[in-house]
Amino acid sequence: MKCPKCASAQFKSFDTSENIEVEFCGACGAIWFESGELSEMVDTPKDMPFLKQSLSFARPTKLNCVTCDGVKLVDIPYHPEEKVRVDYCRECHGLLLDRKEVPAIEEINSRRNLSKSLTQVLEELKKQGFIRIR
Ligand SMILES: [Zn+2]
Ligand SMILES: [Zn+2]
Repeated sequence: MKCPKCASAQFKSFDTSENIEVEFCGACGAIWFESGELSEMVDTPKDMPFLKQSLSFARPTKLNCVTCDGVKLVDIPYHPEEKVRVDYCRECHGLLLDRKEVPAIEEINSRRNLSKSLTQVLEELKKQGFIRIR
């Protein structure tokens, strides 16, 4: 398995602190998330919170999908109103990120209250009548 970004190095498996096995490139730092892995790592209900809207901003790339043969990734914004862009496979729903994009995505999720645990806390407070959410 070759890195789509730098083409030279082999991907290595890496266990995150959340015990999720992701593949990363030792040469350029790109990280490959299979479907469902990014959401688990950043604790959101879905890998892409607004996939349909994000796909409407898709740009083609020359990057090959890590797992699909002959499929190119598309460049889409992680959130339709944010600048951070990720490379996405329409076939297997895998995501290719730069290492620095992971903290950027966590920042978006916490600022926009997209993370699952935070949402659950808010829901609980709402149920008990402490806060109102539109
Ligand atoms: Zn690489
Ligand atoms: Zn794929």
